[in-house]
Amino acid sequence: MADVAQMRDLLPVQELDTRATQLRYRREHLDLRVELKSAQGELADQVKVLEGISAELKELHKAQKEAEDHASLISDRADAIDRSLYDGSVKDPKELGSLQQELAQLRSNQDNFETRALEIMEEADPVLERLDSARESASGIEGRIGDLEARITVAEAEIDAELAAVAGERSSAADAVDAQMLELYEALRVQLGGIAVAELTGRRCGGCHLELPSAQAEQVRHATEPRSAVCPDCGCLLVA
Ligand SMILES: [Zn+2]
Repeated sequence: MADVAQMRDLLPVQELDTRATQLRYRREHLDLRVELKSAQGELADQVKVLEGISAELKELHKAQKEAEDHASLISDRADAIDRSLYDGSVKDPKELGSLQQELAQLRSNQDNFETRALEIMEEADPVLERLDSARESASGIEGRIGDLEARITVAEAEIDAELAAVAGERSSAADAVDAQMLELYEALRVQLGGIAVAELTGRRCGGCHLELPSAQAEQVRHATEPRSAVCPDCGCLLVA
């Protein structure tokens, strides 16, 4: 069984493992990632706004095209009547009179549809402006997202470099620990979820920060094997 004195060698390993855990937590919970998520949400909303405006425009264009097509059909018919009035094909004054009436009606209808087409074009102007400003907003958000992603990459790389340094130090620190002691530590770390060894300062456990009863603190101080030097509250090994 490993000597209780060798437990002290575990302290730097524990410290480095704790630092690595903190670094990994920081990497997972970067504030930038929260900002990124919110920007992505904003972009999704903006895309919906854009889709809505595009649908509005599509409807307006359709209505404009319909009005123009009507105007053009009516114009063709009016032109045909116009020609027949002057090519001498119609001679009956009564018939000529009714054709002139029809022509006037058709031109008036044509004018109505052309006016309608122009009105729709004017209605589309503010919608186009809204489309432009929505596109501008979306591209602003996209810019922010790109910037945040770049900053996250940098922050992750910084943390990864720190993690690599900690892993190097940890490996050296672990080399200095008795193999059996290290095995006990690793098993306890899994079992206890992080802190497997801490210092006893006075009667205070450095793992859970609770005070041990005097008798138990004494027992830890005089322990001859690791299993007797354990915090009764959190279960970590205590180095006295
Ligand atoms: Zn404890």
